Amino acid sequence: VCPMGKINFYAGPAILPATVIEQAQAAVKNFEGTGLSILEVSHRGKEFVKVMDNARALAKELMGLNDNYEVIFLHGGGLSQFHMVPMNLLNENETASYFDTGTWAHGALTEAKLFGNVHIACSSKDKNYTYIPRQYNVAPGSKYLHITSNNTIYGTQLQLPLNPPAGVPVVCDMSSDIFSRKVDYNPFDLVYAAAQKNLGPSGTTLVAVNKNILGHVNRRIPRMLDYRQHIEKESLLNTPSVFPIYVAYLTLQWVKSEGVDNIEARNLRKAKKLYDTIDASDLFNCPIAKEDRSVMNVCFTVASKELEE
Ligand SMILES: *Cc1c(COP(=O)(O)O)cnc(C)c1O
Repeated sequence: VCPMGKINFYAGPAILPATVIEQAQAAVKNFEGTGLSILEVSHRGKEFVKVMDNARALAKELMGLNDNYEVIFLHGGGLSQFHMVPMNLLNENETASYFDTGTWAHGALTEAKLFGNVHIACSSKDKNYTYIPRQYNVAPGSKYLHITSNNTIYGTQLQLPLNPPAGVPVVCDMSSDIFSRKVDYNPFDLVYAAAQKNLGPSGTTLVAVNKNILGHVNRRIPRMLDYRQHIEKESLLNTPSVFPIYVAYLTLQWVKSEGVDNIEARNLRKAKKLYDTIDASDLFNCPIAKEDRSVMNVCFTVASKELEE
């Protein structure tokens, strides 16, 4: 429930904690006592540089990542990661394996075909993406395996960890379930999440990447699309989206104070209530396989097409 009393069920942009809205509001008027609005301050000023450094460090702490990893905040939403990932990790004659489990997963693999070969490790397209395949196969020599941990639009969620073949880096789109449940992030080599689902307003994307997987492609990469450039410049390569990053930082602090364990327990309770109600009702119907149902995005249809409209 937002402070104005409205109930917002959107996957994203989504409701933010009331305390985060209050803090953001105060910073719009006067950011950290600078006498300027957060909307006006320089991204190179010491107050914002501190926000950026702290946000990167806190995300890394919450994800429990070691020093092989760097966290950066990028532009271009989740969608830009669909091309940045293959551009930075996949040579033209090489293959990457992808799970095809929904709209965003399919979007990611379609974009990757612009840069190299794509092998579909598994697909649930045959049943309109209403389940997560139990079996998958990674093409030999795959440069990476790409998965989408939560399929926002179809309402399915992957059980983690995945246990893929050793030596294949795993890239995970966690846009709609990052920090919603306990996850061991270390088996992943690259995690990305557009902010507007679980982290803040739209306008920034969190990327956590193991530096060791970078720098192995031979194509030339524009600076703005090169993870290494952003890492080297400590996520200040150009003017970042100052306000969304600030709000994401406030949300990260909220996540830490709540504790991911508690957030997960609450999410499970909320989802159970919804699914139980839907399953018990004649009016609503959840077409998603029970064991694959998302805790974040509860999708349902209405028995009557007219009523659904
Ligand atoms: C919303 C979403 C995206 C797209 O994010 P944009 O910021 O709109 O580009 C990508 N992946 C997943 C899983 C999403 O939920």
